[in-house]
Amino acid sequence: RTTPQSVCSYDEEHPALSAQVHDKSVHALIQEIITQKAQVQADETEDESAFFACDLSAIYQSFLEWKASPIGDRVEIFYATKCNPSPQVLHLLSLLGTSFDCASMSEINAVLSLPSAPSPDRIIFANPCKPASFVKNAAQKGVKMMTFDNADELYKIKRIYPTAKLVLRILTDDSKSLCRLGLKFGAPLATCPGLLSLAKQLGLDVIGVSFHVGSGCKDPMQFADAVWRARKVFDMGKSAGYEFNLLDIGGGFERETFQEMTQVLSDSFDLYFPEDSGVRIIAEPGRFMVSSAFTLATSIIASRRAQQPTGDVVPGSIEEEEEKTEGAADVMYYINDGVYGSFNCIMFDHQIVHPHPLTISGDLMKTEPPFPPLPNVAVEVDLPIQMGYKDTEKASVWGPTCDSIDCVRQLVDMPKGMDIGDWVGWTEMGAYTLCAASTFNGFDRSPVHWTTGNQDKQESKFVKRLLEEFNSTSLR
Ligand code: PLP
Repeated sequence: RTTPQSVCSYDEEHPALSAQVHDKSVHALIQEIITQKAQVQADETEDESAFFACDLSAIYQSFLEWKASPIGDRVEIFYATKCNPSPQVLHLLSLLGTSFDCASMSEINAVLSLPSAPSPDRIIFANPCKPASFVKNAAQKGVKMMTFDNADELYKIKRIYPTAKLVLRILTDDSKSLCRLGLKFGAPLATCPGLLSLAKQLGLDVIGVSFHVGSGCKDPMQFADAVWRARKVFDMGKSAGYEFNLLDIGGGFERETFQEMTQVLSDSFDLYFPEDSGVRIIAEPGRFMVSSAFTLATSIIASRRAQQPTGDVVPGSIEEEEEKTEGAADVMYYINDGVYGSFNCIMFDHQIVHPHPLTISGDLMKTEPPFPPLPNVAVEVDLPIQMGYKDTEKASVWGPTCDSIDCVRQLVDMPKGMDIGDWVGWTEMGAYTLCAASTFNGFDRSPVHWTTGNQDKQESKFVKRLLEEFNSTSLR
């Protein structure tokens, strides 16, 4: 059950939200948990397990950044649930008034069963290839908006949900994105007139166009090109007898390029979808909303130092081969979460993750990593160096499973003096991490500890008040 310090208490009403929510900074929360764990260890019940700390106010900050951006007044957020479907995250976003992009029946049901459940018209079923039973569920739940990109999907929807409001997902250039969704989804422009006339023949209601430039989009001009293509398909819609009124610009936003991207989008809207066109514009940001809110704390469960050869190494010998494969790391650290767990983002999402020390030789670190942290591209300067640690060495960092693919960082500068039992933090771990983690090899998923953030900050106070007010008016 929740304790008195908790700012929310949903135990009976909504078990998935019943976790205690603290009201301190992520740094303070992590330090507190590590200290507690060390005390438990002293009692010989070891608990060195990894955990996440989530600052819910960081999600609110992303929301405010979106609102303050050049597209903030015009473009409604339909948060991409898949990115991080934790009920606490969905609940806060729903209270903030965002809508949702759901890709499956479970995601739709999860959003609609929140204590702050939005109305079904605040959901878009943004998966162009849906199982028939999922379409039926959407119909039963009153979720009308859904995407399609092929003829078979149109026949399926005609059969199961003929009154759905359809959005044609088009193919755009995603060649500069880390995750290229166009390999799987999106109708090429040449196929759109045929699809739209088929939809018309079937008597279906197509209301607009959607695209996704790919997750981890590196080139803002891809958005300009995509909006231009969408305009072309709006015109095709007119020829097919439709009057589209919805443009869905998908996700693909990242903090490092956010200002540039939203400016490019705003300029493109002025050109192709000006305010007076009356077109409603929505977006499905995932990573941008949640990435910075989650920090993962892992502990070093084993380590191995590079050994100097004791005898002469004969050219062509096994010893020489072994030396070559050792790599350039001075030390190998093995931590208790890996690519089969929370770091699956390295495999599926092409992420580069950035460690920083939380303890060195058992002592808690006072210094917090800088925010915003390093962009993915600037991996040359590792966080410990940015944080001012002078005495560093090269480390490789490995997950806990028996698979050698389970490498979290091949080579990274870490402060000297770290040892088994020390804690390593990883920032920017909110997107596509826990939602896709497995328990391969018998390692548990890392649990999340929640906080509304440092109460000296306005955003943190606001989030705490928002959650409390909801509880007092709706649940008690
Ligand atoms: N919308 C759709 C249809 C997606 O497939 C995705 C991600 O795969 C997103 C939105 C979210 O993308 P991002 O997290 O890059 O903003």
